[in-house]
Amino acid sequence: MSQKQTHAFQTEVAQLLDLMIHSLYSNKEIFLRELVSNASDAIDKLRFESISDDSLVEGKEELNIHIDVNKDAGTITISDNGIGMTQDEVMDNIGTIANSGTKKYLENLDKAQAQDSNLIGQFGVGFYSSFIVANTVTLISRKAGDDKANGTKWISKGKGEYSIEAIKVENFGTSIILDIKKAESEFLDDFRLKGIVSKYSDHITVPIMMVKPSEDDVIEYETINKATAFWAQDKRDLKQEDYDEFYKSLTYDFEGPLTQIHNKLEGKLDYTSLLFIPRKAPFDMWEPKRKTGVKLYAKRVFIMEGNEALLPQYLRFIKGVIDTADLTLNVSREILQGSKVVDTIRKASVKRILGELDKMSKNKPEDYALFWKEFGMVMKEGIVEDFDNKEKIAALLRFATTETTNADQTVSLADYISRKKEEQKAIYYITADTFAAAKGSPHLEIFKKKGIEVLLLTDRVDEWLVGNFGEHEGLEFKSITKGDLEDLDSDEDKAEKEKITKDFDKVIEKAESILSTKVKAVKVSSRLSESPSCLVADENELGSNMERIMKSLGQDVPETKPILEINPDHPLVKKLKDSVDEDLVEVLFDQAVLSEGGQISEPAEFVKRINKLMMS
Ligand code: ADP
Ligand code: MG
Repeated sequence: MSQKQTHAFQTEVAQLLDLMIHSLYSNKEIFLRELVSNASDAIDKLRFESISDDSLVEGKEELNIHIDVNKDAGTITISDNGIGMTQDEVMDNIGTIANSGTKKYLENLDKAQAQDSNLIGQFGVGFYSSFIVANTVTLISRKAGDDKANGTKWISKGKGEYSIEAIKVENFGTSIILDIKKAESEFLDDFRLKGIVSKYSDHITVPIMMVKPSEDDVIEYETINKATAFWAQDKRDLKQEDYDEFYKSLTYDFEGPLTQIHNKLEGKLDYTSLLFIPRKAPFDMWEPKRKTGVKLYAKRVFIMEGNEALLPQYLRFIKGVIDTADLTLNVSREILQGSKVVDTIRKASVKRILGELDKMSKNKPEDYALFWKEFGMVMKEGIVEDFDNKEKIAALLRFATTETTNADQTVSLADYISRKKEEQKAIYYITADTFAAAKGSPHLEIFKKKGIEVLLLTDRVDEWLVGNFGEHEGLEFKSITKGDLEDLDSDEDKAEKEKITKDFDKVIEKAESILSTKVKAVKVSSRLSESPSCLVADENELGSNMERIMKSLGQDVPETKPILEINPDHPLVKKLKDSVDEDLVEVLFDQAVLSEGGQISEPAEFVKRINKLMMS
């Protein structure tokens, strides 16, 4: 195909372009960061592929990036001798947004938000950012190893379409020519561009070349970035600012990390790892296919990013670099999964991360609170995912409890256990939508009375967490809204309860027939001291909070009916002994639903009944 063709951008691309031009208005310079990072990726890929086929580099000794300014023509050219692209690849890569997370993110974002959060930088706005400063962008590329005749020229004004044609291209690799907008002519300045490169791209391991300033007309290039592997430097020579800068250039984050773990190992295994714990969760932390943020290098050659073999899923928020001399460079994803070397590095990295978090929780509780707020939910996955480290992860968990005054103030399981009552055989918990709903639950009354602390769980994963936790220090997790709480009752309590239940025989029988479609049974409660009624589930049932969660996720929930417990000491309940008033029974049921944050099925009926009762 040599004829020039015109194609329309994918809808999302047009959308991204529009969004970007508006939201990155104050941060235009990042176009250079993006183009340089693409060029560097392309060179990494070529280096990697040329290991098995050195004919690809066509005798070129140095792989590098050139940035050239032509003031007269008003253009900036960024060229690389990297892997290059075939015409099909240009069409696939430069006309579509492949990342589904990005697409979804765009759908949910308005311009103001994008501007505000700076989040847009996180997923790498990429190639299209060129249109912030350029009227027209021309891309010329030839895949390394392809015939010179099989080059591609791509041109677009970023207005919804592009043209593409086959041309002859002398050198393999890619050149991007930006026809700079009049209003952005500040970028047609070598000095300015050098500043941008050193700000964002100093640690790119590929040399970035620009023309050396000179009096005469000799054109001589110089390397303008440090072009060294940051992580290979000695820890003692690095300051926190250095780590911050490297982290920012690695992640596009706008602030430094919470902390980093930098290790160099020589001996049986030879590798360096530099792992960062960010301050903020990434926008796509809950994307099911989100990859971990660790880049794998083999002797400074980039191999791949985000491989599951490097870190477990629950540590997917960790960013950083692992560089090893013990992997052959032509490893594939599949080989990595089964590699002993990778497995050892992974185990050691997890151990270091968990160790660092443990240290932070003890020595820097404020930092740890920040960490927990952002990443606590994912860490909980580790309890189930990483059985070997379960105890260590359990020690890092934090929960709100009846002893805390807000949801962010949290307690470790060790604290909880240190305060538990002698006879207590379980870690008690209640789940609810909010901290306030949990804390106000009538189910807590007996626990308050007995001075037993209860975990107040409000994360969606909590129900799943406690359900899969198993024992901790010989204690089961037990929901206070399920089953009998017999183990809390003394023998005297039990005898007393039996007697009262007899007293309420008739009331219970009648109430059960009034509520027959709504409840499984009515029972005298030993949980309540102030409230008249509450709902409980059978030991082995889901419980109403879990049912609500599952319904909201669109899942089929087996119909189960709760048990209504009534407080025999409450005046309203005592009143039932004189006559079992239907309205009162219905109201006791509805109140129990309301008090645990549920929705009553007939609110208008409820109001009518309340009014009737107040008037009587
Ligand atoms: P990203 O870099 O996040 O993938 P970009 O929009 O920056 O997104 O680039 C899209 C794709 O275009 C890249 O993944 C790569 O396949 C291709 N590409 C861009 N620039 C180059 C280049 N200089 N050399 C080779 N391929 C490139
Ligand atoms: Mg890119």
